[in-house]
Amino acid sequence: MENRIEQIEAEALALLSDASDVEQIKSLSVKYLGRKGLVTLFLRNISELPVDERPEAGKQANITKKRLESAFEEAAKRMEADFSDDSDAIDVSLPGRPSPQGSLHPITTITRHICSIFARMGFDIAEGPEVENDYYNFEALNIPKNHPARDMQDTFYVSENIVLRTHTSPIQVHVMEQNAPPIRIVAPGKVYRCDSDLTHTPMFHQVEGLLVDEEVSFGDLKGILESLVHQIFDENIRLRFRPSFFPFTEPSAEVDILCVMCRGKGCKVCSQTGWLEVMGCGMVHPAVFENVGYDTSIFSGFAFGMGVERLAMLKYGINDLRMFFESDLRFLRQF
Ligand SMILES: [Zn+2]
Repeated sequence: MENRIEQIEAEALALLSDASDVEQIKSLSVKYLGRKGLVTLFLRNISELPVDERPEAGKQANITKKRLESAFEEAAKRMEADFSDDSDAIDVSLPGRPSPQGSLHPITTITRHICSIFARMGFDIAEGPEVENDYYNFEALNIPKNHPARDMQDTFYVSENIVLRTHTSPIQVHVMEQNAPPIRIVAPGKVYRCDSDLTHTPMFHQVEGLLVDEEVSFGDLKGILESLVHQIFDENIRLRFRPSFFPFTEPSAEVDILCVMCRGKGCKVCSQTGWLEVMGCGMVHPAVFENVGYDTSIFSGFAFGMGVERLAMLKYGINDLRMFFESDLRFLRQF
């Protein structure tokens, strides 16, 4: 009989050492010490033992009962202390904390999209400094000092001859200075002009392109831009080229697309004209080639430039330019 109570105690302590929470300890306590618990029943049934065994069995059972009581109590206390100690409590049953994932800004997305379209057509991506010499930003591009075209680009001057670039065209000059034709590049990047209203921000993004080779025609330019616009918007959108003026191209043109909102019927977005201006382009002015030492009797080329925000607004139907730069997550999460 002594063996029996020892067995019960050993079994109870083994189960207790496996217990992983307070609830399990409580149910073990009921199983062994409760009203119908194994130790309780053992004590209750002592009277059925032979008379001479009763005292020793009773003593053993009572010792076991006390030992188990204090073992259960201590284990429960220890476990509660573990969980209430904030510094290293780990509740493995809690769901994990999500780590917030960012996403690309719509301007980045569309810039990369445009660059990848040109990359497939064999263009390299070129980059350049955002702080430029007056020479690269203006003079090399056939915009001499006091030329009225400088007024079109209200410029941030760092010093008399250093400016924040007003367009990404200086990159074209850098590339032409360092490379002989043929050239095929697109130059994405930030540009700066000092105006700010509903449709202008002091910083915005451009993608410009340049192709120089022998026998380049305006037809090549039209073909490439048409392919670009069709890949950005959709295959059927109509384009038109309108004569325009830029100092660094001759002839120059503005490219309009049929309004993506009203399909030409006329609406607020297109000011009832049915057309939306999306970029400027033209054949590179011979003066620009002469500035970088290209032989204009052999080489010709075209250049184009577009505002990335403008394209993104049309593509995603955004009506306020400033939303791109307000860092409002409710806006940015939509892309
Ligand atoms: Zn329209």
